[in-house]
Amino acid sequence: NRLANNFQFIDVGRNDPDKKAIQSRQSEYVEIYKPFTKDQVAEQSHRCLECGNPYCEWKCPVHNFIPNWLKLVSEGNLFEAAELSHQTNTLPEVCGRVCPQDRLCEGACTLNDGFGAVTIGASEKYITDTALAMGWRPDLSDVVDTGKKVAIIGAGPAGLGCADILARNGVKPVVFDRYPEIGGLLTFGIPEFKLEKEVMVRRREVFEGMGVEFRLNTEIGSDVQISELLDQYDAVFMGMGTYTYMKGGFPGEDLPGVYEALPYLVGNVNHNLGFEQDSEAYVNLRGKRVIVLGGGDTAMDCVRTAVRQGADKVICAYRRDEENMPGSRREVKNANEEGVEFLYNRQPVEVVEYFGQACGIKVVTTELGEPDADGRRRPQPIPGSEEVLEADAVIIAFGFQPSPPGWLDDVSVELNSWNGVVAQEHQTYKFQTSNPKIFAGGDMVRGSDLVVTAIWEGREAAEGILDYLDV
Ligand code: FAD
Ligand code: SF4
Repeated sequence: NRLANNFQFIDVGRNDPDKKAIQSRQSEYVEIYKPFTKDQVAEQSHRCLECGNPYCEWKCPVHNFIPNWLKLVSEGNLFEAAELSHQTNTLPEVCGRVCPQDRLCEGACTLNDGFGAVTIGASEKYITDTALAMGWRPDLSDVVDTGKKVAIIGAGPAGLGCADILARNGVKPVVFDRYPEIGGLLTFGIPEFKLEKEVMVRRREVFEGMGVEFRLNTEIGSDVQISELLDQYDAVFMGMGTYTYMKGGFPGEDLPGVYEALPYLVGNVNHNLGFEQDSEAYVNLRGKRVIVLGGGDTAMDCVRTAVRQGADKVICAYRRDEENMPGSRREVKNANEEGVEFLYNRQPVEVVEYFGQACGIKVVTTELGEPDADGRRRPQPIPGSEEVLEADAVIIAFGFQPSPPGWLDDVSVELNSWNGVVAQEHQTYKFQTSNPKIFAGGDMVRGSDLVVTAIWEGREAAEGILDYLDV
């Protein structure tokens, strides 16, 4: 009973799901965490203090009702927990897997004060995975059709978040994507060891059951024009992501043997999924010495993919220290366990060449100086500390910038100074662009960020669209 368990957090510590054996993690493209069992979820959810003003909820970008669904699942009300979880989140089982919980919900848990946070992410994943496997589906039987329809460009988390809210309010979402499957970076960027692809296959079936229509392999701007969408639909939502890769600006970046992070990851996913692609799109680093430059999630995904491809040695070189790495600490730890070597405070100077091919990278050691405009301490090179790290392949993972298509200009959609689409939360119709009929959200508006923030913006933009359509 609940009363007897009020002090469970004292007797029972925080527990993470078990991980698979290291040998399988170094070679297989499957999720490394074993699913939480019913007992593990019950144990963790009983630890929740049900704080009156739960910080975890505030810190979660979609403001999940975390203590409430933990209570429901601890009482055995799985379907009710799934229903409640879906009131605020379009893809709870995905967020449970890929959110950097240590910086979000779990980082804000009151129990961090000496007891260890409740394991929220794994419990969120358990609730939806198990409910869906047992046949639970979102109930839209009360929804009244408004006769309106909205075109959504991009089947990533932002587009799917928007489609979810529209479908639940009787507006027909038709989602266009240039790729052959839904998910955006969830399917074609984030590797299987963090998120197995079956998760999105099952989600597609759930969305189609909710009345969401997908038109895949369809690029807006070439296969279908934006003018057609504006003519045929009551509104348009854009969630097209950010795909311009940031360069380092040092010599040798274009040499053979130097790869961009995202094409490398996408080529590998497509290869694993058996999708058709150009032969040079798949880069196999088996037997190679690999250096990945960067310290974010994308860099971690590259080093761990190289390990699974059978690279001889994998090094991650990052220009700040471990504490200042932007990626999730959990993934840095996982990469470490899988055999990746980290070199901190190393800034690339140039790619070293041997007969026209990259054969290493010259780096300089840095120390952290004064904070820059973002408040992060700027790395300062230490003169005379240059060294060459030998490598057969160098992967550059410095992040992405928006890649707005030229046709945005034709439909008067305004961009900001860094090419992001201007669409804000605080305006009459949330996330409306300078073209009143077009809304936007996710990475193309806020810059490269997180799955959960893209979902949130897609959902908020859908609220803006509903207000705009007056339904
Ligand atoms: P996207 O997911 O990029 O989706 C955009 C979609 O729009 C794509 O499917 C694209 O094909 C489609 N599209 C674009 N232009 C057109 C067009 N003209 N016509 C038709 N379709 C079009 N976040 C986390 O929270 N946790 C992580 O662990 C994590 N790991 C990451 C790892 C990598 C390698 C990368 C690159 C990102 C990672 N992220 C992670 C960030 C996260 O994936 C993104 O922030 C999120 O996917 C953004 O969602 P979105 O819907 O805005 O864009
Ligand atoms: Fe935590 Fe992300 Fe789930 Fe929110 S969506 S509760 S931040 S794992």
